[in-house]
Amino acid sequence: MSATRVLVLNSGSSSVKYQLLDMRDSSRLAMGLVERIGEEGSRLRHTPQGGGSREWTGPIADHDAALKAVAEELSKDGLGLDSPELAAIGHRVVHGGKTFTEPTVIDEAVLAEIERLIPVAPLHNPANLTGIRTARALRPDLPQVAVFDTAFHTTMPESAARYAIDVETADAHRIRRYGFHGTSHAYVSRATAKLLGKAPEEVNVIVLHLGNGASASAVRGGRCVDTSMGLTPLEGLVMGTRSGDMDPAVIFHLMRVGKMSTDEIDTLLNKKSGLIGLCGDNDMREIRRRVDEGDEQAKLAFDIYIHRLKKYIGAYYAVLGRVDAIAFTAGVGENAARVREAAVAGLESLGLAVDDALNAVRSDEPRLISPADARVAVAVVPTDEELEIATQAYALVEEEKATEQ
Ligand code: AMP
Repeated sequence: MSATRVLVLNSGSSSVKYQLLDMRDSSRLAMGLVERIGEEGSRLRHTPQGGGSREWTGPIADHDAALKAVAEELSKDGLGLDSPELAAIGHRVVHGGKTFTEPTVIDEAVLAEIERLIPVAPLHNPANLTGIRTARALRPDLPQVAVFDTAFHTTMPESAARYAIDVETADAHRIRRYGFHGTSHAYVSRATAKLLGKAPEEVNVIVLHLGNGASASAVRGGRCVDTSMGLTPLEGLVMGTRSGDMDPAVIFHLMRVGKMSTDEIDTLLNKKSGLIGLCGDNDMREIRRRVDEGDEQAKLAFDIYIHRLKKYIGAYYAVLGRVDAIAFTAGVGENAARVREAAVAGLESLGLAVDDALNAVRSDEPRLISPADARVAVAVVPTDEELEIATQAYALVEEEKATEQ
């Protein structure tokens, strides 16, 4: 019997999220989360297929202990990491720079390159590396594949990827627009083509990934040609806690006039801005509830959020020239009908509209919400980053196996 399972690991600085998938039918055999690693009150929550979560609280000192605890939980369900059915471990890696344009089997050279990228991803890459090293120590014989958040965006032309700053300075510090959420943009743009009954090569799609972090991308024939996040995930749309686009001189002003330090400004723009900075809430459900009660501050936050979103829809419409579909995804995009409605309101002359009844439907399936005769399809396409990571990792391992034979 050939190995068909893939374990997907998403390692943060103090957490590990995991899913075990069977690639024969993309089913989820187990999933879970280890939180507060190395802190007080570490805990593991494990959910096997069919439900019945198990929770475990106790000291988990580091990623090594976390992964061993995960392996133990999986073993209880007969899904241990020593199983011959495990084909690969797929790791989410946030920053692959310009180097990694595709999923990559991890070896020492790949690890060294991910390490070299730490200056452009100081928060994420070190944690991702720790997760990889731990998993490799546990199963050194198993292929481990890195799937990069930036990879899908490496097809952006230089005109979209470069900032208009001094080229030498930019190159010396690897400053360019990398984009993030790439796994989601890849998955959703492909799923949107499928929903339209077309091949990815045949369609142009604007993907709006609206979660707590949010980004838009313009995808021409399956290839990303622009995306809203840049050197870091701070650029672009208004997000739950991030400002998105703004005049960079705001930073100099805060330093010179506001006497704020670099770290304080970093925290302000990444953690205390966006919706939470504008109205004190970053959950769209709460914001909508407040708007419906007549709360002016929440209404202004919502309006600013929608204004920016509309600007990106218009910009990417212009970048693509012809748009076949706009796809809404992630927590807000999949659930907030009012956001979808407001984002395309008034854009009828671009062929964009939503059908109120279709937009109100709640479902986990990809679906169209535009009127039947619409020129441009508007879709809701639930994202599935773990499935995409597992699919890419498995395809690569199978490909390598085939070339070896
Ligand atoms: P994500 O980062 O994709 O997990 O998205 C999380 C965000 O989705 C939350 O902060 C909420 O703002 C939003 N969200 C989740 N469920 C709903 C819902 N039913 N209605 C509106 N927004 C939602």
